[in-house]
Amino acid sequence: MKLTIVGCSGSFPGPDSPASCYLVEHDGHRLVLDLGNGALGVLQVYADLRAIDAVLLSHLHLDHVADVGSLYVARKYHPEGPLPALPVIGPRGVADRIVTMYSDSSTAAMAEIFDFREHTAEQQIGPFTVTVSRMRHPVTAYATRVEAGGRSLVFSGDTGPTDALIDITRGADLALFEASFLTEEVAHVVDEAADIHMTAAQAAAQATLAGVGQLVLTHLVPWNPVSDIEAEARPHFDGSLVIARSGLVIDV
Ligand SMILES: [Zn+2]
Ligand SMILES: [Zn+2]
Repeated sequence: MKLTIVGCSGSFPGPDSPASCYLVEHDGHRLVLDLGNGALGVLQVYADLRAIDAVLLSHLHLDHVADVGSLYVARKYHPEGPLPALPVIGPRGVADRIVTMYSDSSTAAMAEIFDFREHTAEQQIGPFTVTVSRMRHPVTAYATRVEAGGRSLVFSGDTGPTDALIDITRGADLALFEASFLTEEVAHVVDEAADIHMTAAQAAAQATLAGVGQLVLTHLVPWNPVSDIEAEARPHFDGSLVIARSGLVIDV
């Protein structure tokens, strides 16, 4: 599989990256994991918008779904005519959320462009076997494991540290884990923070417990220095550690 980091900025777009979006390719098929603010523009550098098999949404916070509304426009008014309904798979309520966000449409109209589906524990999309698991976040949120060609990656979505993330990641080739916080900024609210996001140190420790060989830290909040994120994670993970940046391509 080929993983392209389209957007890795956490919670809102940064000066150098859109919010959450990842392109996973294998054997001519393409999955998009999340489509946060600003991601649709950069996504077009790496994929023709007609050539996407499905969009999978980890959860319905704006920094993970905002540009689904823009994708609706791009597909509905395409010069070749409206493109075939694209599977958009997310938590319960995904259709209402996207329609409401776009505001100028009805569920029926948008259903001509998007085939809204809710996550199931496991599904097959082209060559990809996709499994999901509930995470620890203020809204319903999922980690996503994608397997194809004998390789596997796990995207945490947004989550605090949880055994469920370790379980779904166990034995994967690559962990794409969120690292929204630095330890110092949450030192006075450790318990509350752990119900929302991970620190870089926690993400690294979770990856170690899952036994993965490669860790990519993402959902990086623009005010956190990259050097601090890497320094916090390094003591907790012995494998290959990469800090995500928009445009990074990784062979999984
Ligand atoms: Zn987020
Ligand atoms: Zn979130």
